[in-house]
Amino acid sequence: MIIGAGPAGTAAGFDLACAGYSVLILDRRDFPRTKACAGGITPKALNLFAYDISHLVERQCRRVRVRRPSGQTFTVEETQPLCHMVQRRDLDLFSLKKVMASGADFQKITKIKGLDQRSDHVRVVTDDGRYTARYLIGADGANSRIRQMAVLPRRRYPVHKYPALEADVPVERADLISMEFDFSMGIPGYYWIFPKKDHVSIGIYGANHSVPMSADMLQDYAQLRFKTRDIRNVKGYPICVGDGGWLRRAPGINRVLLAGDAAGLAEPLLGEGIFFALKSGRTAAAAIMGASKGHGNALKRYRAALTRTYLDLMLYGFSAKMLYRFSEPCLKLAAYRGIHGYFSKGYAKGDPISHLFFPF
Ligand SMILES: Cc1cc2nc3c(=O)[nH]c(=O)nc-3n(C[C@H](O)[C@H](O)[C@H](O)COP(=O)(O)OP(=O)(O)OC[C@H]3O[C@@H](n4cnc5c(N)ncnc54)[C@H](O)[C@@H]3O)c2cc1C
Repeated sequence: MIIGAGPAGTAAGFDLACAGYSVLILDRRDFPRTKACAGGITPKALNLFAYDISHLVERQCRRVRVRRPSGQTFTVEETQPLCHMVQRRDLDLFSLKKVMASGADFQKITKIKGLDQRSDHVRVVTDDGRYTARYLIGADGANSRIRQMAVLPRRRYPVHKYPALEADVPVERADLISMEFDFSMGIPGYYWIFPKKDHVSIGIYGANHSVPMSADMLQDYAQLRFKTRDIRNVKGYPICVGDGGWLRRAPGINRVLLAGDAAGLAEPLLGEGIFFALKSGRTAAAAIMGASKGHGNALKRYRAALTRTYLDLMLYGFSAKMLYRFSEPCLKLAAYRGIHGYFSKGYAKGDPISHLFFPF
């Protein structure tokens, strides 16, 4: 059983259903549904989808502009795309359909009221009924109820929730606009411009718990950059990031495995979460399959298989500390083609950050 039909839940559900396991996905929303997300899919995330999503990509960005706190800009450019732009509403609907086509069931639920773990099964009690399964993957996002109900009462599992807010700005010729990370707006974090087919997504990422953000700030930004105050679909949600500091902590308890933002597995540097949701969802599925075949305990297998991901998150955590403490000198250094070119090349290939730092 999987709670949450975002990237983590559907990635896990797809692998399990394709392997012939009986899978039930529960979500509190009907699909299609909106989700606060800029829809930037990095090359390494694109490589992780178990099915082709290329028809959902509205724009491939080979060029990214970075605005330093001083206001000066530099451009990172690659022959291969650095980011693929999708609409989360479309991506999540397509992914859910793929999971259902591979044999999983989907059920909309209202409130989760209780969770009961026994030695050989887990039971979830909702307003709509009771659901029992051998394993539960909690993939219910940053404000995970499964994390709160199953894990936190029994074990310290610190997660960091960083705020993010976004809106759409209708523009003529979105195809002429570059993807941009803007560190010049005087917040710990950045503003973004992600170009889509007929509009741009603008947004704010706060690199700590308490960065203030509002629709007014987005409107001012739209005015500054696009000479319009017409912003639409303003949406905010926390991103649940990790820095690998809980390396030894299991992302779950007994038969409950947390994945994606529920496990605090987005990265704290830029707030990328889709890659980590896919990675942890698929890893959780593999751990359950292994345990079901008698190869040890699912949660232990899961934690062991995430070691590389934790290392990546530690490197993102370190990079975030440096970037947001010393933004101008860091970005001045990054402006050198020799420096950013090295990272962007690996990034475009889909290399994990640990490979970029330690390529041996
Ligand atoms: C404004 C914003 C912009 C972002 N932009 C990007 C980006 O461009 N690229 C990127 O990689 N990441 C981005 N992220 C982060 C990314 O969206 C998340 O990391 C990612 O969605 C996590 O996936 P998930 O499957 O773990 O959880 P989610 O995508 O949050 O999915 C959780 C699912 O669980 C369901 N659910 C929640 N609570 C319950 C409940 N109690 N009962 C039943 N179901 C429940 C929800 O309805 C949802 O369908 C952004 C985040 C925000 C907020």
